[in-house]
Amino acid sequence: MTTSRQPVALEPYAATPGASRGRCYPESEHPYRSAFQRDRDRIIHSTAFRRLVYKTQVFVNHEGDHYRTRLTHSLEVAQIGRTVAAELGLNELLVEAICLAHDLGHTPFGHAGQDTLNQCMEKYGGFEHNLQSLRVVDELEERYIDFPGLNLTFESREGILKHCSRRNARELGELGERFLHRHQPGLEAQLANIADEIAYNNHDVDDGLRAGLLTEDELIATDLFSDHYAHSREQGDKMDRRALIHATVRAMINEIVTDLIDHSRATLTRQAPADIEAVRGQAAAMIGLSPDAEARHRSLKHFLHGSLYQHERVLAMTERAHVIVRGLFECYMNDMHAMPKDYVRRAEIWVEQSGEAGRARAVADYVAGMTDRYAYSAYGRLVNSGINEPLMG
Ligand code: MG
Repeated sequence: MTTSRQPVALEPYAATPGASRGRCYPESEHPYRSAFQRDRDRIIHSTAFRRLVYKTQVFVNHEGDHYRTRLTHSLEVAQIGRTVAAELGLNELLVEAICLAHDLGHTPFGHAGQDTLNQCMEKYGGFEHNLQSLRVVDELEERYIDFPGLNLTFESREGILKHCSRRNARELGELGERFLHRHQPGLEAQLANIADEIAYNNHDVDDGLRAGLLTEDELIATDLFSDHYAHSREQGDKMDRRALIHATVRAMINEIVTDLIDHSRATLTRQAPADIEAVRGQAAAMIGLSPDAEARHRSLKHFLHGSLYQHERVLAMTERAHVIVRGLFECYMNDMHAMPKDYVRRAEIWVEQSGEAGRARAVADYVAGMTDRYAYSAYGRLVNSGINEPLMG
């Protein structure tokens, strides 16, 4: 059982600014903000972070005002991450920074946009949304005179880069090494990764029910929903449907988060890594769910893959997103001067360095940075004036 109520001091295996592998461009310390606090603040003040409010999670932004967007999703991930970090004695500020930044590289229209952009970039090295999040903080944000990007600490960048192909890992130096050796990142990065999954699995249930794409009768097929739904119903006959759903989703998150804390704490106590470097030498994650909770959570994920993400209305959105993203990519490849001046300038430099692939990368960066609504209007203006209408009806 989890019993601690007071903030726990940092454990020896937590990330600390003192043991940080540092920033790419050395900077002096701030008088009162720690290195990870500065990372978090830089992320919140970035342009890419503000754009998350108009980017799709599963539902297109203008479908309704109550669905999650990438921004509210990122805040929920950070909230879960910080709760667990505080209980385990990990660095809350670092976890928060990673969670807030983890989706900065997402394209408009969620996974549909990303898959399309990856196809468009097939000849030019592909497009990985996770690697794009790193590109945003390392290169694309322009906020400092002395360096490109946000110059975040190694630990924040390590957490942002959750996955990476071996080909791309080879080009990332120290940051890519763990993918080549199949080693784990620090515990804060492990935690942010699983907080992301917990957040989206559970809030997609809520959004899916709200949108009428899922029903309670279908969800009862999963034990995690069914157990808490039955229990919540017993709590009050007078609860209306929305309140019952909220009570159920709340209990689902609580069960999984509590298990994550308890199971991870047991693992850390057993393995007792001396410091963050000892964590990084491991092949297996130390932050994780017990096998039972893992199975319950995984079965919910499979259910959502089969039902929500394959729902005909979501697939219709996927199809339209495919058309818009491909249309925009081809349009800017044919005429890169249709992009804003900053992107044209960048594209010209990269074309000189690496020809067509350089141009394609500049176009992919531009299209990936678009919000849903910006992509609509750009497509309507440049490619097809008839498409400027909601994707899901
Ligand atoms: Mg996410």
